[in-house]
Amino acid sequence: MLQPFLNLKTTVIRLNPSAQTHARIIDGKALSAQVLDEVREDVRALAAQQIYPALAVLLIGQDPASEVYVRNKLLRAKDVGIHSLEHRLPDNVSQQQVLQLIQRLNADPGVNGILVQLPLPAHINEQAVIQAIAPIKDVDGFHRENVGGLVQGDEVLTPCTPSGCMRLLHETLGDLSGLHAVVVGRSNIVGKPMATLLLQANCSVSVVHSRSVDAAALCRLADIVVAAVGRPQMIDARWLKPGAVVIDVGINRIDTSSGPRLVGDVDFESASRVASAITPVPGGVGPMTIAYLLKNTLIASELQRAERPISYPAVG
Ligand code: NAD
Repeated sequence: MLQPFLNLKTTVIRLNPSAQTHARIIDGKALSAQVLDEVREDVRALAAQQIYPALAVLLIGQDPASEVYVRNKLLRAKDVGIHSLEHRLPDNVSQQQVLQLIQRLNADPGVNGILVQLPLPAHINEQAVIQAIAPIKDVDGFHRENVGGLVQGDEVLTPCTPSGCMRLLHETLGDLSGLHAVVVGRSNIVGKPMATLLLQANCSVSVVHSRSVDAAALCRLADIVVAAVGRPQMIDARWLKPGAVVIDVGINRIDTSSGPRLVGDVDFESASRVASAITPVPGGVGPMTIAYLLKNTLIASELQRAERPISYPAVG
């Protein structure tokens, strides 16, 4: 159960730079349903051994987007039979109170995963909160012990969005060895862990960011483009090599003549004329993130039962 990318039923796309008229859509909704089925099956097997993994979710304040994200996470947890505990704290809660709650959850053997929904109110130090979570319960994979473990190739809790992206890529391309991947964005929650996972999958990896010179030219060298920027439809056909596989992490709300709409960091219409496969927004990476949060809850429970993290040697 520890290997999050097992059970691949791969429909492999061969990268083909020749005439490609329209990209295949990588269906994150369908694949996330498959991942959730895997989790549900594992939850049932654990229940037969009287083991009931549980996830604690902390929501601080009333950010509307965070409310939606938390509601979806709790609903999916319920769907797969994972027990969830919601802790809603008011906007004016002190950092000390948040840290005390985390300490209680860290010490509670009935809680396997702890997730603090970000962003936090301005008076609370995000890093202080993240680093207070016991690494073995850190289902977001943001604690520096997990970040360091990931870089060293250890079996640790890994951020959910990049894990979901890797599953999408493996399902689409099979083995990624030797491919050139360009990650656009270098955030701690998406860009950096994504680049690390691609490196572990034996890709040659470039990271493009806000200070890169001619980001589009660097992207055009890529077999795989992962966009995690937060700029609506920034990446279009001119950024892509024919036949590239495109994973769009971005979620941006834009106003159109027909009302507000969600779009990614990639201009889907233009990019799908050049790419061989592409994730849509919505329905691509988003659902995979929640599925991998629940997979991480099971991995956390398993790591806790093993008493200590199992280490594997780094990939050379
Ligand atoms: P962030 O703001 O922390 O990081 C953005 C990165 O983009 C930065 O590293 C910056 O260097 C880079 N960047 C900015 N302008 C650039 C430019 N012109 N050229 C190249 N790089 C540039 O954002 P984040 O938290 O990594 O999120 C990125 C996007 O992904 C957002 O739209 C966010 O909503 C979305 N997101 C989606 C999911 C999901 O589950 N689908 C999860 C997390 C984030």
